[in-house]
Parts: sequence; structure tokens; C-alpha cells
Amino acid sequence: MIIDCHGHYTTAPDALEAWRKRQILGIADPAQMPRVSELRISDDELRESIETNQLRLMRERGSDLTLFSPRASFMAHHIGDFNVSSRWAAICNELCFRVSRLFPEYFVPVAMLPQSPRVDPASCIPELERCVNEYGNVGINLNPDPSGGHWTSPPLSDRSWYPIYEKMVEYDIPAMIHVSTSCNACFHTTGAHYLNADTTAFMQCLTSDLFTDFPTLKFLIPHGGGAVPYHWGRFRGLAQELKKPLLQDHLLKNIFFDTCVYHQPGIDLLTKVIPVDNILFASEMIGAVRGVDPETGYYFDDTKRYVDGAALLDTEARFKIYEGNARRVFPRLDATLKASGK
Ligand SMILES: [Zn+2]
Repeated sequence: MIIDCHGHYTTAPDALEAWRKRQILGIADPAQMPRVSELRISDDELRESIETNQLRLMRERGSDLTLFSPRASFMAHHIGDFNVSSRWAAICNELCFRVSRLFPEYFVPVAMLPQSPRVDPASCIPELERCVNEYGNVGINLNPDPSGGHWTSPPLSDRSWYPIYEKMVEYDIPAMIHVSTSCNACFHTTGAHYLNADTTAFMQCLTSDLFTDFPTLKFLIPHGGGAVPYHWGRFRGLAQELKKPLLQDHLLKNIFFDTCVYHQPGIDLLTKVIPVDNILFASEMIGAVRGVDPETGYYFDDTKRYVDGAALLDTEARFKIYEGNARRVFPRLDATLKASGK
């Protein structure tokens, strides 16, 4: 089977965005703050938003299952305070859960967290627990920069993040390291901030001994690992200068990369540089780059074409990238699949 480990609910019914706009207005003017119960989206609306978009493309492109989380750019943890983020995360996580219930064969939920700048990450634990215990979430998206491009939080190796890691280890769930909208004009959200954050998260792990403290902690770095695979020699050299172990011992038992790289040469490089055991198939379809590549005539985000076209991969390697590694990195997904005979 082909598991896409990186999908967001980018096609949610308009009522969701309308509610969020009212919530943002309500931050300045509490009289306008909507109640959670005022957001009403029917199962039919959810069904249509999925069937005509993600599910249609999954069928056309040949993927079987998508790990499905709230729209990343809409997390916008920098907006409002913890209570604003908390209500918003609860709503978005519930919608992804409902999608997974409507299409249990095709979607498994991954949670966003109610992070907020300068708020203790431990405040996210109750929502994390709810999503795993009640909604069957198999992973989380962790934002290393809730400020939206101003990087006011300490690095991921800081002990303030440890309560989240302890809970991840307890539940055996990985985190995709995923920022949200940039509110810093220097950084375009998907063209700069996302890729910066992927690279930054890797380097924060490299300079630290985080995985000595948490040997079973797993991070999935999306968007092909940002600049990391391209500059692998730099990172190996820096690790050497810093007297760290070889990267395969220091980081690669814990860090994985997805295939959201939108051209063949990028996937060729990824699969040449990064061990196949550390690569998970993903497309982030209907996300940042929605157009057709005039050089190929196919959608940029139809990443299965590039994995199928990667000359260095044999059948066993493709199995690992499409299915085997996802089952290993997301043990709760593997258990769910096995329970349904897959
Ligand atoms: Zn994403």
C-alpha cells in the first residue's frame, strides 16, 4: 500500500475560515467572539470537500492512505493567546477526526497543538492526550516557532519542550516539525519560512544531545528536509567539528524526511544522499504548490511520479518509502492497519 504521511485539510468548507475570521475579530472586540457551537459543518459538506479533492487525487495518482492534519498555514499560533489557539486547535482537530470517521479506509488523523508564543509547551498536553485517546491520532505536528517567523521560542533541544517529548515517547507517536504562516515580511510562508524551519530544526538537533535524553523520540522533517539533504556534507562536517558522533548514529535513528520535493532531480538527490530507511512518502497535495509543471505536464505535487522515477530505488527501497518506514515511524498507524487486517 502507499501511505502519504503528509496531508492537510486545505479544502475544509468555507464556514471554518469564516468562524476563524470572527474569532480573530473577537480578540480585539470580545463582543464579536463566536462560540464554538456557532460553527456548523455537516457530514455531507465534509464528504464533498474530501471526495472532490484529496480522495479524487489519491485515486487518480494511486495512493491508498493519507495521514491527515489541520491546514498548516491556518494553525497561525501567533494569533491571540493560548485560549484562542486552544479553541482553534480543538475545532480543527475535531474536523480531521470526523473526516477520518467518514473515510476510515483513506484518512488517519494527525493533530495540531494549541501552541502560543511564550506559553509553556506543556500547556498543549491535554489536547494532545485527547487527540490520541479519543480521536485515534497517530502523530502530531509540532511548531518550532509559534511566533510565526520571529523565532522567539528556545530551540527544540530546550528542556521547556521536554513535557511534549515525554508524552510522545509514552504514546509512541512521532512529531512532524511544521511551522505555520509567517508574519515576518522577510520570510514567505511556504517558499522560505517552511524550508528555513526544516533546516533549522535539523541543526538544532545536531548541535544538541536531545536524542541521548530521548533515544526513541522521532521527528519527521517535511518538505524533503529543507536544505539538509542538499548540504549533507556541510552538516557532516559541522558534526565533526562539534565532536558529535557520525550523523547516522547522532540523528538518523530519530530523524526522518518526507518526499515533498516537487521535481525529479530533487528526489534523485534525496534518495542518493539520505538512507532509504529515513525517507517517507508524502505529497502535501493541494498545498503550497498546486499548479502543473509545464516541463512535465504533471502536477508539481504528484510526488509519486518522482519516487517511481528515481533510478536508484529498487522494489524493496520503494516498499520502505511507500509503506514500511511509515509503519515503523508511526507505530500506532501500524497497529491500526494490522487491526483491520492490513
Ligand atoms: Zn505541510
